[in-house]
Amino acid sequence: MPVVIIATKNKGKAKEFEALFSRYGLEVKTLLDFKDAMDVEETGRTFEENAILKAEAVSKAFGITAIADDSGLVIDALDGRPGVFSARYAGEDKNDEANIDKVLAEMEKVPDDKRTAAFYCTLAVAQPGKQTFTVSGSLKGIITRERRGGNGFGYDPIFMLPSGKTLAELPPHEKNKISHRANALTKLADSLHLIFGEGKK
Ligand code: IMP
Repeated sequence: MPVVIIATKNKGKAKEFEALFSRYGLEVKTLLDFKDAMDVEETGRTFEENAILKAEAVSKAFGITAIADDSGLVIDALDGRPGVFSARYAGEDKNDEANIDKVLAEMEKVPDDKRTAAFYCTLAVAQPGKQTFTVSGSLKGIITRERRGGNGFGYDPIFMLPSGKTLAELPPHEKNKISHRANALTKLADSLHLIFGEGKK
């Protein structure tokens, strides 16, 4: 089974990528599988810049194809924050609970009809000796006033879909059908056979 290295140490994301890529007959390894794997600094100003930084660093280090994602939550009433700072919005320790508390506090006075937001995901594919390329996906929703649901990770408990459920109230296989990551990966699917060989479409 061809192996794809995903340049992430985020356990929530790693799980979703394993499920998503297994549909295409690809085995996923993440930086969590490699002792002492590097931490790539996310110094870019956009999801795209950060995804490219991570994919190219990992591809270079391992000498094989690497896919990296950079993702985050963009809230209209907060002028696009937390954006590329989603993981560390409340501090460098990347604490999901503290991040949610900060968003809810900043949005306390924002009325219901102004609580629109979207998750974005950019995937970058870096291959030795080839030009890196990216695809992106998004998912629209509304920021709730309190947490609901125990599934998922990150901001899932406060991100409500048009159905009225938060992402954390969906079983993982339902989230994986509609998520920003799934949407980006669907766009990549057409190219997977070019990257990893025939039979992977
Ligand atoms: P990254 O590792 O720099 O891409 O950070 C992504 C951050 O965005 C995560 O740590 C979460 O805070 C947030 N995020 C991205 N995707 C999701 C998702 O599917 N659900 C909830 N939060 C997400």
